[in-house]
Amino acid sequence: MSTAIVRIVSELRSIVAAWRREGLRVAVVPTMGALHEGHLGLVRAALAKADRVIVTLFVNPKQFNNADDLAAYPRTEHDDAAKIAPVGAHILYAPDAADMYPQGFATTVSVSGVSEGLCGTFRPGHFDGVATVVTKLLLQTGADLAFFGEKDFQQLQIVRQLVRDLDIPVEIVACPTVREADGLAMSSRNTRLSLAERNRAPRLAEILVQTAKQVNSGESVGRALTDGREAILAAGFSKVEYLELRADGDLASIVTLDRPARLLVAAWLGQTRLIDNLQVPWPRPEAVHQAAA
Ligand code: AMP
Repeated sequence: MSTAIVRIVSELRSIVAAWRREGLRVAVVPTMGALHEGHLGLVRAALAKADRVIVTLFVNPKQFNNADDLAAYPRTEHDDAAKIAPVGAHILYAPDAADMYPQGFATTVSVSGVSEGLCGTFRPGHFDGVATVVTKLLLQTGADLAFFGEKDFQQLQIVRQLVRDLDIPVEIVACPTVREADGLAMSSRNTRLSLAERNRAPRLAEILVQTAKQVNSGESVGRALTDGREAILAAGFSKVEYLELRADGDLASIVTLDRPARLLVAAWLGQTRLIDNLQVPWPRPEAVHQAAA
């Protein structure tokens, strides 16, 4: 099957309108391209729930707080189109930046609360850029369902919040993080790692697992996080931006494990910033075990 490439929103809207007249359910998978199995997992999940799937490809300048990062972001549209066609996506919507943000564009969607702290602290303006582009893509596609990865966990909560607040009629579907065989969360940025860095990178996920175990074993959260940060640096990462335990839904800070939680991390390996996160179950497994005994 071939995937049509659409660049103009009016063309996209008329295709979607025709689908709607046929009573078809439409899903969107927003991406910045350089597609990997994590993205393709979202496309497959979308195809399982909808009749028509639009993959969007837009390297959104508004969400880059660093011009070098934007310039270095991989752009592989031809390969991306070749990857999604066999999976069965119907449209690759790849608008130009000048059409998304024409001269005079003056609106910013800004979500408070969940966007504060974590990546919000270290990438000023990033989540305003994300919220603005996601709002546009949801309105442009008019999709019934939109698929996002848990890999970008804070982003996922921001999208849920804006959809709720702005009454956008779309169901947000979250998909688990897809990992390489050695545990490294797949990311378009992984291609920037040197061989030596790539060999070290899976330690980040291992340390999340280890830290989650420590928290689950009843260790103080502060102690477990300090040990985790030290372990990341000892593994050869140059800087830990954050390693935090937050409530699973609203990302509130938590100091003791008293509700379902997430460990979230951002750390630099050489010139590459990696993020990852892991669910920390609650009640603690042995607490459940003891209660049942
Ligand atoms: P990006 O192209 O990095 O902006 O990501 C587009 C979508 O793919 C977002 O919803 C991401 O959370 C999701 N995504 C990226 N990497 C992964 C992964 N390893 N597993 C699951 N979803 C992912």
